[in-house]
Amino acid sequence: MNEEKLKSLSALVEGQRDLMWDAEKTIWSHPETGYKEWKTHAYMKAQLEKMGYTLVEAGNIPGFYADLDTGRPGPTLVLMAELDSVLCMSHPDADPQTGAAHACGHHAQCAALLGAAAALKAPGALDGLCGRIRLMGVPAEELLELEYREGLRKQGIIKYYGGKLEFLYRGYFDDADLCVMLHTAGGKNGFWLSPGQNGCINKQIVYRGLASHAGGSPDRGINALYAANLGLSAINAIRETFRDDDHIRVHPIITGQVGAVNVIPDCVTMESYVRGASIPAIQAANKKVNRALAGAAAAMGAKLTVTDRPGYSPVVNDPNMYDLTRRVMCALVGEENVKVEKEWGTGCTDMGDISCVFPAIHPSGSGAQGKGHGDDYRIVDKESALTLAAKFLCSMAAALLGEDAKEAKYILDNKHTPYASIREYLSAVDELCQDLEAVSYTDDGAALRF
Ligand SMILES: [Zn+2]
Repeated sequence: MNEEKLKSLSALVEGQRDLMWDAEKTIWSHPETGYKEWKTHAYMKAQLEKMGYTLVEAGNIPGFYADLDTGRPGPTLVLMAELDSVLCMSHPDADPQTGAAHACGHHAQCAALLGAAAALKAPGALDGLCGRIRLMGVPAEELLELEYREGLRKQGIIKYYGGKLEFLYRGYFDDADLCVMLHTAGGKNGFWLSPGQNGCINKQIVYRGLASHAGGSPDRGINALYAANLGLSAINAIRETFRDDDHIRVHPIITGQVGAVNVIPDCVTMESYVRGASIPAIQAANKKVNRALAGAAAAMGAKLTVTDRPGYSPVVNDPNMYDLTRRVMCALVGEENVKVEKEWGTGCTDMGDISCVFPAIHPSGSGAQGKGHGDDYRIVDKESALTLAAKFLCSMAAALLGEDAKEAKYILDNKHTPYASIREYLSAVDELCQDLEAVSYTDDGAALRF
């Protein structure tokens, strides 16, 4: 790793503060949730085109990539930023119409990507590098508004709920070799690396009962709300069967119900994730969760529809990529400011899907304050969240693609990704999809199968 090259690229990033500060402010004020990030897309596009980039746009969804060719043969490195926000209605800077707020700091990732893009376009920036750098703005990292995404899926607009998985499916990674991104986190002038993160399946659950007069003839109704309550209790009762090492997290919410107080509720809808540290562990826990939900339906004589869709795969850090990332971070901020986390991350990200097929890294930077996804989250130290983040992206490009891509080639020669190709991975993901009518009954109301 050529530390002089890292320093010269860092100096170029320092000239991009105005651009990054403006971008952070603009995107923060226009938060948009997944597959709706049109304003963010347009802003990023305008800025990148001003720098001379040509974008390949996803078209019917937000998102893009733009290639920067060094003119010398070598691997393709993808540097990513996520375009979407979360929903946090109580955030003081939430969009009052939609509740969208950048309470996960993805707007800072976008600003840092612009800073890196501008620095890499400067004269001499690519000297000594080979291969290609693909700058990518990915939509829909946050896995929310599942009904909306299922609607897009049914219309044929998307195949997958997660933006990176969708981009894998669309072929935007077909000629890629290595993938890097940096998520904004707390602290100042530092980085942290985690050993890995959970993956998940996501679930839409519908209990259907029978409406009837709640006072006059409850005996003729079937209470879908009670069935849903029993389902939640049954899930709580099986939690002790989850092994600690599998890091299972199940957190269902009730999203809607139809009814009035004098009518037995006949429909309750729920959403949930089943998260875990490996795909087999997630599948095993999901089977138990579906059984618990079905048992609750059968107890009440209610009907139950479960729609399981692939969420995200667990993040698998490539050990050699991890080691190089740590060395780059130490070169930027000193070893004392690089925290090597021992604890497994129990949230999920679609960077997990990328890590199933590419040597990839998903570390965290600094500069934010407050709880991630909470109403007090904001960027308080732009120097860390933007300048340092952009320096990191450029430095990873220099470390991987400099010196004839020696480091990148070593990582690629020794990679052990869980799947050999994107197609192989996508067919494994497709096996997680299921649409279940979970309980059936005989004519006299006895449970026949569940
Ligand atoms: Zn995030």
